[in-house]
Amino acid sequence: MLTDAPPCKANRGQFLESDRLKTLDLPRDGAVTEIAQHLESAMKSDNIRDVRSACTDFLATASDFYEVPTCGVRVLAARPLRTREHGTFELFGDYDPETMLIRVWMRTAVRKEVTSFGTFLSTLCHEFCHHLDYQKFGFADSWHTRGFYERTAVLYHHARGTPPKKLFWVPMPGERWRIDWQRTNRSVSNDSAV
Ligand SMILES: [Zn+2]
Repeated sequence: MLTDAPPCKANRGQFLESDRLKTLDLPRDGAVTEIAQHLESAMKSDNIRDVRSACTDFLATASDFYEVPTCGVRVLAARPLRTREHGTFELFGDYDPETMLIRVWMRTAVRKEVTSFGTFLSTLCHEFCHHLDYQKFGFADSWHTRGFYERTAVLYHHARGTPPKKLFWVPMPGERWRIDWQRTNRSVSNDSAV
């Protein structure tokens, strides 16, 4: 995971705000977690209809909690080979801020393999966080900043019922950052060992 390069002057302030904003309020009840469990079993039985309804529930419940308009979702079987998303390479989903529609794919384009539940859920959280950027935080664009990935991870771990991970970042050329997975995962296993 690599962050976007900072934008031109006009949006730089919002970009930095997005970068700094590392957490999200979370619902105190387990509604989102419960829906994620339905999603997992629907995926295991490869039932696209149930996957669709779990995704719809998930986004409606989360939108309600964050007090934003509910975004639509389209769960599609295989990702088309040519899909453009501005500048980023995302294999399993996208979000259109104009129509507030999330698209998620259950299978990869080339090999038609079923996406793992973890990847699918993290894609759903990722695209929903794009929705929050526009509708809740009022950003002019939704950049993949360190804060964006942190917020996505907070929501994902809440939905999955797993402890949040502390993310470690490595600076890259062009004012970009990438996650140091080795360090990130090591710190989790150290935590659980204590
Ligand atoms: Zn994205």
